[in-house]
Amino acid sequence: MREILHIQGGQCGNQIGSKFWEVICDEHGIDPTGRYKGESGDGSFDLQLERINVYYNEASGGRYVPRAVLMDLEPGTMDSIRSGPYGQIFRPDNFVFGQSGAGNNWAKGHYTEGAELIDAVLDVVRKEAENCDCLQGFQVCHSLGGGTGSGMGTLLISKIREEYPDRMMLTFSVFPSPKVSDTVVEPYNATLSVHQLVENADECMVLDNEALYDICFRTLKLSNPSFGDLNHLISATMSGVTCCLRFPGQLNSDLRKLAVNLIPFPRLHFFMVGFAPLTSRGSQHYLSLTVPELTQQMWDSKNMMCAADPRHGRYLTASAMFRGKMSTKEVDEQMLNVQNKNSSYFVEWIPNNVKSSVCDVPPTGLKMASTFVGNSTSIQEMFRRVSEQFTAMFRRKAFLHWYTGEGMDEMEFTEAESNMNDLVAEYQQYQDATAEDEEDYDDEGDEEQYEG
Ligand code: GDP
Repeated sequence: MREILHIQGGQCGNQIGSKFWEVICDEHGIDPTGRYKGESGDGSFDLQLERINVYYNEASGGRYVPRAVLMDLEPGTMDSIRSGPYGQIFRPDNFVFGQSGAGNNWAKGHYTEGAELIDAVLDVVRKEAENCDCLQGFQVCHSLGGGTGSGMGTLLISKIREEYPDRMMLTFSVFPSPKVSDTVVEPYNATLSVHQLVENADECMVLDNEALYDICFRTLKLSNPSFGDLNHLISATMSGVTCCLRFPGQLNSDLRKLAVNLIPFPRLHFFMVGFAPLTSRGSQHYLSLTVPELTQQMWDSKNMMCAADPRHGRYLTASAMFRGKMSTKEVDEQMLNVQNKNSSYFVEWIPNNVKSSVCDVPPTGLKMASTFVGNSTSIQEMFRRVSEQFTAMFRRKAFLHWYTGEGMDEMEFTEAESNMNDLVAEYQQYQDATAEDEEDYDDEGDEEQYEG
């Protein structure tokens, strides 16, 4: 058994996290009381339960309980989860919350209010980890623009890294966009978080509210998208990304294999994710796509959950998960076709850098779907956007007193700013790198040796 421990923090983290559980409970045939009511007879029984222990604990009486810890600095969001459709499925002791709130202030989440609550969260995490047979790692759901998911979320990630240095850390991180939110300090909170995620997370699935809003508005024609609409896209994506961890299969079947395939350089672990077909809430039942259509859409920048255009950069690596009954041969052909036609968008110095797999179980409501996870140098466009917003304010030290008032040093802002700028420069460096550069480099190395 290779268990994953799920943690959700803050308003956004709790909202997308509880959606994730609703979706995967449905896919695995688990009802809101934790009982298996899956379809038997057609063999789906085995598929649904074979790897159920990755995300669920088995409690007495045959109930399946999410291995989930829920944290927040205010009770509101967790109250609504508890009274929502799947509220009873979570272990009551795993709700850890305070009353103070973080007021969209990263410093409160990371250094003051959050730091007071963190030991209570770690106690629950430890308890869950001790119950595992062989924990493979953690997944954290949070936003980067607020105070709790962002500040306290990254505090928790660093504490977990300290205590479980050899376990994997995956995050689902929601990046802020002024199109969706009107809190001006979000670029500060996001940049301080990225500074942490570069060092302490192994793999980050980037969910960019700017792109999610654009998909809702432009593709799904929703004139005034709500968080519910955005979160529908997020939960479909999260289900797709974790599908290879939850169902039997070969490719990317655990968090470490996923990382090994996708991460050529340790800091460059921020992934663009795409999904096809894109659907709005309630409309999915009308859609039926072919493998070529799914493939075409999945690679399209309009289907990426991150506001960056892959055609402005190059893919270091990528991975595609197709779901539903389809021919593996057709999938392989279509995927090769994309690569051959667009070879300049893939770095030539990592051969075979695109992998694909097929999982028999489609998401609920669809016959077929596909999820894309790409490590593209174009993701620097999103980091640049946040960085520009950060720098505009930081140049004048605007709003800084809210952070220094919680004991933070200005220095941490400067460091976070340059760490993110370095990240952008690293993506650019590998975007420009060609196979020939590498040879030049070797030659120089040889020369130096001869001289010595
Ligand atoms: P926290 O409770 O202190 O962690 O703060 P929030 O999670 O509310 O963080 C604010 C950021 O999260 C802003 O960028 C919001 O746009 C975003 N946000 C809040 N709730 C949601 C949500 O349910 N879905 C999405 N996609 N973004 C959210």
